[in-house]
Amino acid sequence: LKERWPGRGRESGKRGFINLADGRKVLVVAEPDRDGGASRLSLELAGLGVALARGLETGAVGFIAGNGIGAGAGELAATGLERVLKADDSSLAGYNPDVATRLLEEALGDISPRVILLGHTPAGQDLGPRLGFALGAGVVTDCVGVELHGSCIRFLKPVYGGNAVASMETTTKTAVATVRARVGKPSGGGAPCEITDIRVTPVEPRLSIGETVEEERGVSLEDAGVVVSGGRGIGGEEGFEELRELASLLGGALGASRPPCDSGWIPSTAQVGITGKIVAPDLYIAVALSGSTQHLTGMSDSGKVVSINSDPDAYIFKVSDYGVAGDWKRVIPAFKRRLGEITGEGRGS
Ligand SMILES: Cc1cc2nc3c(=O)[nH]c(=O)nc-3n(C[C@H](O)[C@H](O)[C@H](O)COP(=O)(O)OP(=O)(O)OC[C@H]3O[C@@H](n4cnc5c(N)ncnc54)[C@H](O)[C@@H]3O)c2cc1C
Repeated sequence: LKERWPGRGRESGKRGFINLADGRKVLVVAEPDRDGGASRLSLELAGLGVALARGLETGAVGFIAGNGIGAGAGELAATGLERVLKADDSSLAGYNPDVATRLLEEALGDISPRVILLGHTPAGQDLGPRLGFALGAGVVTDCVGVELHGSCIRFLKPVYGGNAVASMETTTKTAVATVRARVGKPSGGGAPCEITDIRVTPVEPRLSIGETVEEERGVSLEDAGVVVSGGRGIGGEEGFEELRELASLLGGALGASRPPCDSGWIPSTAQVGITGKIVAPDLYIAVALSGSTQHLTGMSDSGKVVSINSDPDAYIFKVSDYGVAGDWKRVIPAFKRRLGEITGEGRGS
């Protein structure tokens, strides 16, 4: 890496699209969703970036890369950002670490922003540290808060498996942070800012993607307002089909604790937790899972938590707003039936 990107920030080159020399801007790295729009998390990041920039008396710039992402760039442009950089090219379909890092570097030139915000998504978790290394920037991952104290930016990050929150500052000129869902509030409705097209120069990636496995279509876990998660007590694939139906009745997404993923009952992309996805829905329904610290770390920012567990002493009840002590095989069908009655769907089933 050092050979490829020597001495970042030491020379004052004139390359690059953003003049960040004076104002020390906030840069928001957005990600497109599956349909080329900006992901919900990206819009939240834009809201956060704009608020931070306001406090720092500077501006926030957005960056989005992908293939066919005109709509996403348009959505970002209406969030209060002062400018959006768009790299739209067929070679950018799918995430490649080398290509993404190089592209951002070229967009920035030799001048570093004050802070670069990325989503704490699989791509963000990969790109953040690479960018940090390339720019010589301090990196804080998995932020649950980004606060301004005077002109100092503090990053809040869960530590010790989510049992404590550390408040961190970087000592470098630029800070890179990956931020969880629901930390920022999406802003929108403003007059659209300028969208600048970035010329994409071909990069010979040192890493090629062997296979890409498409996540199931439907509501993505990170964006879902309702998540129904199953644990080891679900017992197998068939049980997860029941939960899938419930999730779809509620217009939500299906998640899981780690054991069902390890057992192959459900793809590992559904895992919620410290080594899985971080979700923050308005409603989290935890079915037959005990509430380990590792799992709770992934859903502790949820609005209301409803749990169903046959063990009345299960820890998950301690972090739930509502709990049903009982066998999920009896509770879930009754719940679905009642939901069907309320919504008018599946009446009589
Ligand atoms: C480094 C590391 C990282 C990890 N990362 C994660 C992570 O990201 N996400 C994660 O989830 N875990 C993670 N784990 C695993 C974690 O420690 C727990 O082992 C796991 O979360 C437990 O999953 P569970 O609650 O489904 O299973 P269990 O703890 O076995 O709980 C099953 C629950 O189901 C209930 N039950 C059983 N039958 C029924 C029934 N018929 N009806 C209702 N309730 C029933 C039981 O009462 C029990 O409470 C990690 C572990 C390590 C060491």
